[in-house]
Amino acid sequence: MKFHIMTLFPDMIMNGLGTSIIGRAVEKGILEIKAWNIRDYAFNKHQSVDDYPYGGGAGMLMQAEPVYQTWKAICVESGAGMKQDDCQVDEHISLPEEGSSEVPAGINANKKTPRVVYLSPQGKPFNQAMAEEFAKEEELILLCGHYEGIDERVLEEIVTDYVSAGDYVLTGGELPAMMMVDAISRLIPGVLHNDVSAEFESFQDDLLEYPQYSRPEIWHDRQVPPILLSGHHANVEKWRREQSVIRTAKCRPDLLEKASLTAKEKELAEQIIREQTQNQDEKYEKPLAKQECLW
Ligand code: SAH
Repeated sequence: MKFHIMTLFPDMIMNGLGTSIIGRAVEKGILEIKAWNIRDYAFNKHQSVDDYPYGGGAGMLMQAEPVYQTWKAICVESGAGMKQDDCQVDEHISLPEEGSSEVPAGINANKKTPRVVYLSPQGKPFNQAMAEEFAKEEELILLCGHYEGIDERVLEEIVTDYVSAGDYVLTGGELPAMMMVDAISRLIPGVLHNDVSAEFESFQDDLLEYPQYSRPEIWHDRQVPPILLSGHHANVEKWRREQSVIRTAKCRPDLLEKASLTAKEKELAEQIIREQTQNQDEKYEKPLAKQECLW
């Protein structure tokens, strides 16, 4: 899969994604990550990319044209078909005759332009289901805003998806873009050492993952749950599933609405939620360690 990231801070992206699992997947050629510097497509001699917002107000806004030109350069590199109007303003492309349905050299009209995701606090909150959906794409363009954001007109013209990292405001879209690349990439076959480890995880099946333990068997007087040492695979699976249900009911009961649970599991979850509500009422009387949820 190939990620194109449109940003004013390409080093931030390349440094952030160049190490560990994602860095290795890039080295192996399973992933391609390219940061496009929007400043390289500035149209004035000072290479400025921002200006004051019309109507006044605090801060600066990224201008439409450098963002648009960067997007066009990406489309040209990816060889995706664009509207002829788009091509005609690009000096790098030889133009077909007027009225002709011929497509400029290097452009494949049948290849759809990659989806363009604008990282924005106004977007749809990112989640695992979205990561799974984006992982099906061959190529993805991520657009990072900075300052007060980006001129609305270019967003209207090129953006296909608006995605938010959560209900808070950051200084730029780079961290959320890296977060998306990371979450999507680990779903691409070959990126994780063991593809099974992406199979049973939090949010798959709308449940949180069960607690996990590694050596030693006893640490700070805490014993690993004996069932995990039993070697009885079916019982381990049963215990893990139950722990997932309990943990989800305690920490993220909202997820259970979509989870497919057996009647017994539903009963267990409801019981936990009832106890949890009771605990909430007694919250101020209980020491913190006795409270049920992880957070
Ligand atoms: N004035 C804008 C916020 C601009 S923040 C508003 O109120 O909506 C500057 C940039 O940071 C944005 O263009 C966006 O790309 C990025 N950003 C900030 N918070 C974000 C979030 N929660 N999720 C995704 N991107 C975010």
